[in-house]
Amino acid sequence: MNSKANLRVAVLSIISALLLGVFAPATVVNAASGDTVVYITKTGECYHSSGCSSLRRSKIETTLKSAVERGYRPCSKCKPGTLDATSTTTAATAAPAAAPAATASKVNTKATVDAAVEALKTYKGNTSEFNAYTYYINNKDLQTAFGADGDKLLKHFNEYGKAEGRKAK
Ligand SMILES: [Zn+2]
Repeated sequence: MNSKANLRVAVLSIISALLLGVFAPATVVNAASGDTVVYITKTGECYHSSGCSSLRRSKIETTLKSAVERGYRPCSKCKPGTLDATSTTTAATAAPAAAPAATASKVNTKATVDAAVEALKTYKGNTSEFNAYTYYINNKDLQTAFGADGDKLLKHFNEYGKAEGRKAK
């Protein structure tokens, strides 16, 4: 096996390990209520059930729901359980509610861009040979590079566009 193939195997192993790390807790069928008392420690990233040996140094009482919400993972030694189906359903129901807000902000962004493009029609630097709106609409590469910025479009026209014969009026 050459070194490139070795590297590929190593990368795949790491990705597999990461995926297992992320998804393994969700597959534990040891569901419990969100009100279940669990224990966390000052420095650990896991939550535990009462008798766990990991709790010898510090033992902070909390609830399963609270621990999960704060990003704690179930301890692999004492298997304190994961949130039950009821709690999971609550979380799943809550998620789609955020979607319309995201859509709304997208619409707002588009409206803002449209207004800025519209404003190019009355850009203060427009002359008989240069119209920022016309220049913007007809030059897709500049839309990407500058956006609806009249000053930048005019500068580009003067420095390059005019000589390149780009449509600007
Ligand atoms: Zn534990």
